[in-house]
Amino acid sequence: MDEGFEEVESGGTTWRFDREFLRSDWTCIWGRGCLGVRPEPAEQLGQGCCSFGAVLDGDDEARTVGALAATLDPARFEHHAAAVEGGVFADGDRRATRVVGGACVFLNSPDFAGGAGCALHLGALDSGESPIDWKPSVCWQLPVHVDFQPAEDDTEVATVRRWSRADWGAEGETMAWCCTEGDRAYVGDRPVIESLAEELEAIVGTEVFVELRRRLG
Ligand code: SF4
Repeated sequence: MDEGFEEVESGGTTWRFDREFLRSDWTCIWGRGCLGVRPEPAEQLGQGCCSFGAVLDGDDEARTVGALAATLDPARFEHHAAAVEGGVFADGDRRATRVVGGACVFLNSPDFAGGAGCALHLGALDSGESPIDWKPSVCWQLPVHVDFQPAEDDTEVATVRRWSRADWGAEGETMAWCCTEGDRAYVGDRPVIESLAEELEAIVGTEVFVELRRRLG
């Protein structure tokens, strides 16, 4: 067993969890110090990691996002008119959300009267639902990253770790800041295993998450 990883077996999958990160006090500091993911620090833009279109996890996710976008209240969705006119996807393949005004079409600017931040997130909260059920998976999973590797006898190894600069691809090389590096975002009041409990459980399932929390708690 790798010393830095907690392993939990479940139904043919070996889950490996980055102990140090899950016990760390990392927290999303969007709107309170996040420098964004552009080549230059741009805290004032309030874009966080939404400067790029969100890459979607297949056709089902694209269908869900497209359907929910159509339900958003224009008062809560700054780029509603642009979405009606040009859609919410980057192109006809619907593999990513469209960029409008330098960021994801769903991102409301800091001074938007209907609320800053992700219009899908706001829409979910307005509806009394979880943003996990409304937002593209990459958006609510970040900064948790899962690598799946096939193993012997039809099993697999799933490594759950923090996002790294390399996970951003070419953009990662020019980003002024990566929020899982350094100490700027390690200012939470709880360990990640607690603060991202809902997200982690959605990723790994209840049984594995309960066991993980028992061991790391
Ligand atoms: S996840 Fe990181 S980059 Fe994205 S908004 Fe939060 S602190 Fe900023």
